[in-house]
Amino acid sequence: MSGVTLAQVSKSYGSLRVVDRLSLEIAPGEFVVFLGPSGCGKSTLLRMIAGLETVDSGAIHIGDARVDHLPPGKRGVAMVFQHYALYPHMTVRENMAFGLRNAGVDKAEITRRAEAAAESLEISALLDRKPGQLSGGQRQRVAIARAIVKEPALFLLDEPLSNLDAALRNRTRLEIAQLHQRLGATMIFVTHDQVEAMTLADRIVILNGGGIEQVGTPMEIYLRPRTQFVATFVGSPR
Ligand code: ADP
Ligand code: MG
Repeated sequence: MSGVTLAQVSKSYGSLRVVDRLSLEIAPGEFVVFLGPSGCGKSTLLRMIAGLETVDSGAIHIGDARVDHLPPGKRGVAMVFQHYALYPHMTVRENMAFGLRNAGVDKAEITRRAEAAAESLEISALLDRKPGQLSGGQRQRVAIARAIVKEPALFLLDEPLSNLDAALRNRTRLEIAQLHQRLGATMIFVTHDQVEAMTLADRIVILNGGGIEQVGTPMEIYLRPRTQFVATFVGSPR
């Protein structure tokens, strides 16, 4: 597991400044939730940490390594997206194996990791199916399993529960919490959902307009909101 340091990170699209000189330190093994309204820059920030988006200025460290100029495959991260992003022409097993094969992991080890991950997410019976033959909930479990087999030092999850129905959302949320306990990995989880943030986070980072409104434990944020925006957004008492 690795900590993450963001130092004065900025990003604009044209004249729109989406992330504005944002600084934050995340401890190794911490479960941090980025919480904020749609369009506040959560995905952009996560994609910059993953290396799917460049930074305009500032520095990103993962563990001891400065990574903001490294390609995604060299950052030791795995990302889970809202829309699964599975390879449609590959089976579940192949979806999990693909990235590992490219990274040079040997065949026996790939099989071992894929079967262990499948078992923990209860998708062992689906290994030979293709994504088109799965429900939304099953696809999201495959996407999570595909992240686990990479054994990343840092998990990045971008609204992974948003496309699931209520019952499945609760169940998958619990599984993510258990996964964090079991793996001890650092996790950054993006959501606009207050309940998800309150139940999952060690610390919540409230984002608004490309900057940080407040950072704190769920209780601190809820009981001592520092701004009216935070109070309204998390529904604090008075
Ligand atoms: P969130 O994930 O919090 O909903 P995003 O990070 O996706 O927010 O987007 C933040 C802002 O940046 C939005 O106004 C969005 O329209 C804009 N944006 C995101 N990606 C791009 C892009 N590739 N090109 C132009 N604008 C973008
Ligand atoms: Mg988003």
